Amino acid sequence: MYIVLLGPPGTGKGTQAKRIAEQLGIAHVSTGDMFREAAASGTALGTRAKSYMDRGELVPDEVTLGMLGERLKQQDAQGGAIFDGFPRTQPQAAALDESLAKQGKSVNIALHITASDDEVVRRLSGRWLCPNCGEIYQEASRPPRQPGLCDACGASLTQREDDRAEVVRQRLEKQRPARDLLNHYRGQTKLVDIDGEQGVEAVTKQLADAIRNSTQEPAKS
Ligand code: AMP
Repeated sequence: MYIVLLGPPGTGKGTQAKRIAEQLGIAHVSTGDMFREAAASGTALGTRAKSYMDRGELVPDEVTLGMLGERLKQQDAQGGAIFDGFPRTQPQAAALDESLAKQGKSVNIALHITASDDEVVRRLSGRWLCPNCGEIYQEASRPPRQPGLCDACGASLTQREDDRAEVVRQRLEKQRPARDLLNHYRGQTKLVDIDGEQGVEAVTKQLADAIRNSTQEPAKS
């Protein structure tokens, strides 16, 4: 099963994608995580991507698609994947369709998590990450038991560079899912809107219900 998770930054896509990947036993493919890892290891791709990420802009499609193509060839993605933060543009969506079609596969459902700008800014400025094990915390809705420390492994939590308020505003401006991207999946009757302003558990439940329904009948937009 191949699932696409769409929505502005800060709607909990990362948290939800991890849960779904675990529940369904499929790969979690986050292009943002892949770019951050490449930037941290100082590869040519990472350095190029970082210059866009630091400005809150999208990395050009040819860079993103090259990286994604390699990722899709890996063994763990053969049985299915949830794409988190990908596709961000209609050409990326078309390229994903094309590469899956070559293997006789297709995207089963596109889940679009929505939230207002105010809510997104509030959430991102309170987001903390564990650099060691990847756990994600939110000051208001999911604080760590001990401030600044990861519940799972005890490492010191960090904030993402691009979660600073001024970059968040740019990301919102430049990275709202484009109408043509949403229409791509709406046209395929695969788009399902989910209200991301509910609690994390309620969103997880709605996503799981939508995925279950999509295996029984065509999704409704
Ligand atoms: P994210 O963790 O998904 O918010 O992504 C962090 C940053 O990585 C974004 O602000 C973009 O600069 C870049 N990025 C991630 N995924 C994509 C993508 N599919 N296309 C272009 N740029 C991306």
